[in-house]
Amino acid sequence: MIAGKIRRISGPAVIAEGMMGARMFDIVRVGNEQLVGEIIRLDGTTAFVQVYEDTAGLVVGEKVVSTGLPLAVELGPGMLNGIFDGIQRPLDKIREASGTYIARGINVNALSREATWRFTPRVKVGATVAGGQILGTVPEFSFTHKILVPPGRQGRIKKIAPEGDYTVEEVIATLDDGTELKLYHPWPVRQARPVVRKLDPVTPFLTGMRILDVLFPMTMGGTAAIPGPFGSGKTVTQQSIAKHGNADIVVYVGCGERGNEMTDVLVEFPELEDPQTGGPLMHRTVLIANTSNMPVAAREASIYTGISLAEYFRDQGYRVSVMADSTSRWAEALREIASRLEEMPAEEGYPPYLASRLAAFYERGGRVVTLAGEEGAVSIIGAVSPAGGDFSEPVTQSTLRITGCFWALDAGLARRRHFPAINWNRSYSLFGSILDSWYREQVAPDYPELRDRARSLLQREAELQEVVQLVGPDALQDQERLIIEVGRILRQDFLQQNGFDPVDASCSMSKAYWMLKMITKLNDMARQALEAGATVDDILKDPVMEKVNRARYVPEGEFETYKDGVLQELERAFTVVA
Ligand code: ADP
Ligand code: ADP
Ligand code: MG
Repeated sequence: MIAGKIRRISGPAVIAEGMMGARMFDIVRVGNEQLVGEIIRLDGTTAFVQVYEDTAGLVVGEKVVSTGLPLAVELGPGMLNGIFDGIQRPLDKIREASGTYIARGINVNALSREATWRFTPRVKVGATVAGGQILGTVPEFSFTHKILVPPGRQGRIKKIAPEGDYTVEEVIATLDDGTELKLYHPWPVRQARPVVRKLDPVTPFLTGMRILDVLFPMTMGGTAAIPGPFGSGKTVTQQSIAKHGNADIVVYVGCGERGNEMTDVLVEFPELEDPQTGGPLMHRTVLIANTSNMPVAAREASIYTGISLAEYFRDQGYRVSVMADSTSRWAEALREIASRLEEMPAEEGYPPYLASRLAAFYERGGRVVTLAGEEGAVSIIGAVSPAGGDFSEPVTQSTLRITGCFWALDAGLARRRHFPAINWNRSYSLFGSILDSWYREQVAPDYPELRDRARSLLQREAELQEVVQLVGPDALQDQERLIIEVGRILRQDFLQQNGFDPVDASCSMSKAYWMLKMITKLNDMARQALEAGATVDDILKDPVMEKVNRARYVPEGEFETYKDGVLQELERAFTVVA
């Protein structure tokens, strides 16, 4: 047994001496109450431990015992619809065991040992299996949970359980060498799960938000950052993407910004409806919640716990979206622990390894070939909440160097109730043109050109707005006034989207395409009308304008007919005007 003694206690950090033989990232039990901790630095036989539970009452000299195992999660049925803390302890179970305030040193299993699952085998006795291959399936709500051979194991099936109900602890398969496999297996959270290979991004991760999908698209398996100050819409945006994004499974890691914010998420999330099924979104969601009264060390671990769960679903051949809200609170946990351990601080007090830790998280995203030979993907969207909206601070800067999309939320736009409050001057995506052949095949052959036209119209409008600011609107010609009007429609009726409107909350690429078609057709027809002598006011008065404006509220099912009507009417209206 590797055991030492507490030499010093500083908040969530404990320094233990005499830890001969201990390893980095080993889980230790700290003090008489056996609090859970993790060795995050070793200096000879001195171990620096971050403790996942409240350390009040610990006394110098109490024992610290290494378990010899790294921090691990349990991967198997029973995670969906679950709410866990940062080290995968189910919140309802810890509450049951300890009352409202989370007691310490509690041993609760991540996955229920009592629940039974209907297992249907997919392999036969004699078959050769290897890590990541599928032993059988278990239904979980409307999701098919695939039971995997743990990575690293292989052999011939000696015994396989017949179809039936099993708990996660029952043996469902035995290999030739006697290895017993169950419905679940453990996995060390700080280690990426193996894949055959990563694939290039060629398809989009669709969010259902026009400004993102059209102007700043993300790839399936890509990464995005949502920086923005308080109240600019980070949480609403992430919840909307959780609901409408094209993923099979959602892992939501919440690190509460303010005291009751996580409580809001815990109340709101279970009420979200899944647009794919009409049932609760929770049935394909795992929620990891760090309320602000939980120790900071669990918050530090939570994003790795979350990404490990996500990789496990990916390994079953699914598309997983991971939301981390907010990574700034995570970084603050890292900073607090580092400072308690008296590490040399770098910029703004964050430890020098802030960027590499963030990278270790985002780099676990991607579209891959799984060990079972299927395709799976983890797409990661992390919110960043820089104090005062100052994007030059270290967490925002480190994040934007890693992620493929930068969706900058803007307090000014939010104040004007322009939602989503995404600033199109400060946002970017590295993926735009990579996806163009997908768009041409799946949306429309001319989609990329149409998108580029919309972009340059917005650009032109912004330039003209500057002129108006300087010399007033009277300086503009009719053609220029028209651009301002078309730009306004693009901003207000295309880029804006009401996250709480049942129809407008999500938009398909096809609907977005036809909306752009309408707006550019309006632009072209109106230009001709102006040339033929009409005035901008004539154009604005035409009833077809109203129809273009309202398009976003027309349900997908009725849109085909609606856009045909509007396109025809545009032709007629402005020919008559002329
Ligand atoms: P943050 O997480 O950045 O602090 P929130 O996501 O909580 O901000 O958003 C703050 C408020 O802004 C929300 O309560 C909502 O009223 C409004 N809001 C944000 N995004 C949208 C949206 N897409 N549609 C409508 N309202 C929104
Ligand atoms: P309007 O009064 O015509 O509705 P707004 O007040 O919404 O105009 O916008 C004023 C300015 O803000 C415009 O010049 C526009 O270019 C800029 N703007 C509006 N929306 C965005 C956005 N999403 N991202 C960046 N700039 C924007
Ligand atoms: Mg928030």
